[in-house]
Formats: sequence, structure tokens, C-alpha cells
Amino acid sequence: MNLDLDKDKKGNILLVDDIPENLQLLSDLLIKLGYNVRSVTSGRMALKTVKVKPPEVILLDIKMPEMDGYQVCQALKADADLCKIPVIFISALDDVFDKVKAFNSGGVDYITKPFQIEEVVARLDNQLTIQRQQQLLQKEINHRRDTEEALYQSRALLSSVLNSSLDGIAALQAVRNPESGNIEDFRCLVVNPVIAKIFQRSREDMIGKLVLKKFLTNLQPKLFDDFIEIVETGNTLEQDFYYPSGDSYWYHFVAVKLGDGFAITTRDITARKQIELALQDANQKLEQLVNIDGLTQVANRRCFDTRLEVEWQRLAREQQPLSLILFDVDNFKPYNDFYGHLAGDDCLIRIAQAVQEVVRHPIDLLARYGGEEFTVLLPNTDIEGVINIAETIQKVIRDQAIAHAKSNITDIVTVSLGIASLIPKLEVPPDMLIAYADKALYDAKQQGRDRYAYNC
Ligand code: GH3
Ligand code: MG
Ligand code: MG
Repeated sequence: MNLDLDKDKKGNILLVDDIPENLQLLSDLLIKLGYNVRSVTSGRMALKTVKVKPPEVILLDIKMPEMDGYQVCQALKADADLCKIPVIFISALDDVFDKVKAFNSGGVDYITKPFQIEEVVARLDNQLTIQRQQQLLQKEINHRRDTEEALYQSRALLSSVLNSSLDGIAALQAVRNPESGNIEDFRCLVVNPVIAKIFQRSREDMIGKLVLKKFLTNLQPKLFDDFIEIVETGNTLEQDFYYPSGDSYWYHFVAVKLGDGFAITTRDITARKQIELALQDANQKLEQLVNIDGLTQVANRRCFDTRLEVEWQRLAREQQPLSLILFDVDNFKPYNDFYGHLAGDDCLIRIAQAVQEVVRHPIDLLARYGGEEFTVLLPNTDIEGVINIAETIQKVIRDQAIAHAKSNITDIVTVSLGIASLIPKLEVPPDMLIAYADKALYDAKQQGRDRYAYNC
């Protein structure tokens, strides 16, 4: 019904009466009182005009030619658009007026002629008030229905998102100590199937329950404090979380403050982590391959060069000694020739392993320098210290007692060692240390092998 209540404050009335004088009289009175009045002289005209512009109340004469008031009223009530317009019958005292018939045909009230205008106004206003209240009520009902529909839609959307999401979604509410106000646990408000699966519980079993503290106490108690911090500070927390459950191990989560609690979304990153770990592993192996000598499994030349450069710089700054042993298997060519190349390889492996037992300090480095030559780099070690280690190396190799039938020194494999020890200088290249050790090694060989010589 299209009614402008403000404009037609007093009410929009349709008068229907076949006698023009009657119409005129009542119409004048009502207009004077501020009503908006339209008048028609037949039932047919009444039905036409209400369709064009529906009034708020119809005052309807009963006795009219062609169509009487009852028929007009019934026609109105049969029309879904018009049936709500209240009809007040007006009948002359001398009419044969049947109140029951009036109500049965849909009238809401009746007035008898001659009327008192006060009575007409009172009955009119009564209907207008009811009418307007009904309209307000209807508006309220419509508004409520729209709100409920919107609410229903958003709930449906939310639950479809929650149920179909591949990520875990949950909302938790802080449970505070009534006296201190401190957060003691969190209550599950919303949990989607993915989260419930991680917890290996049903959603119904989780919603409304205090689940977090117990869960984290066993796994990662600090995380519980981190969640409290989200609520207290409003900061977002994002991290990876290790939790083996079924085929999954790793989760990534983002938690943000939500009311007096937080919302959390989690993603299964097990596959990504597995790739990451495999990559890390491969990188580690690659690193090893790059720095380890394939035959003896001690550090290789490349590793030695890098470490020498680093330690040279460091000890030059710290003005601390750096020592180097360069040792070489004596008469290795005849060994190879006599026992075969594979036995030669085996001999190098045994020597390397035996010396590695001596060079155990993480800062020291045993490396295969090339062929049957090895180096031992000893940072922060002075000449006395390095001589000590050289003697130990010589001893452990002798202790291996690897038979050497073609040695011109003795009947087991021996080595000669060249020792260098100095305090590095930034302006001098580290090759100097190698050159010193090489010279000493040469001396040891010259002096008859199976011994050490030093240069410092
Ligand atoms: P010296 O006492 O003067 O050191 O004499 P040498 O025979 O040990 O020295 P030379 O340099 O003449 O020979 C070194 C030999 O070491 C020659 C080479 O075949 C052997 N050699 C070098 N690298 C390897 C290796 O990886 N495996 C084996 N089996 N032999 C190697
Ligand atoms: Mg050699
Ligand atoms: Mg040799």
C-alpha cells in the first residue's frame, strides 16, 4: 500500500454514497477537519478508484442501485491488494440494516445516519490508528524478516566456508579468572572439520570446551603464553608448528585477536616441509661432497684453502700463532708398485683415519693436500704445540704398522713432516705458511725421511 502518512496526516478517506448531497455534506465536514477526502457515487466507481490510489479507510453506503455496499465490500475483500483497507458501513436508520451481514461481508464498523460528525471522526480515527499501527507492525515484520534472511545467508556462507575450507579455522574465547582477570584457558567457539581432524575429536566434542591449555601443555607450553599475548596486545602470531597427527606433521598457522580471544587459521605444510628437509639434506650432502676428499673422507684441498684464508685473516688481526704440518708418505711410489694401487689407496685411508684421531679439536683441520700429502692446520698453536702434534702423528702412523717391504728406511710405512709456525700478517699471503712447511718437509726428506723438520 503506497501511503504517504506525513502528507496525509489526518488520513486518506474514500466516501461512497449514491446520494450526492450526502456525500457533499460529509465530505465538507471531513475536509474541514483536515482529512484528505475523495468521493464517488457508485460501487463500481469505488472499486475502480481504490485500485488507482488505495485510501486508508472507506466509508461505504449500503443502499445503492446496481451494487449495494455489501457487494462492494465483498469485492474488496476478495482482492488481495485491497482486502486490508478497512470498510466502515454507513446506513440510514430507515435502511434495512443487518449488522451481522455487515461484519460477514468484511466491514470493520458501522455508523447510522443521521450521524454526529464527532462519532464519525472517532470511528474513522480509530480505524486509521489501527491501520497505521498495522502498517508499522508490518514494516517491523518485513525488516525483521530481511534481517533474518541476511543472517541466515551469512550463516550459510560462513558454514559453507568453514566446512569446505582446506585450511583449519577456529575461533577461541579467553576464559579469565574472575578475580585476577588473567586468562586461564580458551574456549572453542567455532571449529571447522579440518581443525577437529587435527585434534582427532569431533567438532561437537570441541565446541564450548576448554581445549587449548591441555593440548599445549604436552606439546609446547610457551605457545599458550604466546596466544595470551595475542589477546592482550593485539599482535598477530604466525609460525610453523610441529605436530604429528595421521599423515601430517607440520602446520603453519596465523592467529589474530578476535574480541576477547583469537581466531586461528592453520595449513598443513607437511609436503612443503618434507621437500625443504630433503633439500636441506641434499645441500648438506653436496656441501660435504664439495669439501670432503672422496678417498680418505677427510677434508679436501678446497676446504683447506678456504679455512687457511679465514684463519690467516683472523690470527693476523688477533696476532696469534698459526701452525701447519705438511706430511708425505715415504717411499710411496715403491709401495704402490709392489702392493698395487688399491693397497696404496687403502694405506692412505688408514693413515688419514689414524691422524684424524689425533686432530680432534674442531678448530684444527686435517686435509688431504694431494696425492700422498696431507696437511694439518692448527690455529692458536705455537711451535712447541705443533711439534708435539707432529710427534704424535708420526707415532700413530708407526703404530699402524703397515708393512712396507720396499721401504729403504724400515719395514713399515713412515711419513716425513714439515712444520711451519708463525704469526700471520695481513699484508703477507697465506701461501707463505705452505711454502715454509714445504721447505721443512723437503729438509726432513733430505735428512733421511721418517722425521720432522721445522721452519719458523
Ligand atoms: P718420497 O719418500 O720422496 O715421498 O717418495 P715417494 O715415492 O713417496 O714420492 P713420489 O712423489 O715419487 O711418489 C708418490 C706416489 O704416490 C706416486 C703416486 O702414484 C702415488 N699416489 C699419489 N696419489 C695416490 C693415490 O690416491 N692412491 C695411490 N694408491 N697412490 C697415489
Ligand atoms: Mg709426494
Ligand atoms: Mg712420498
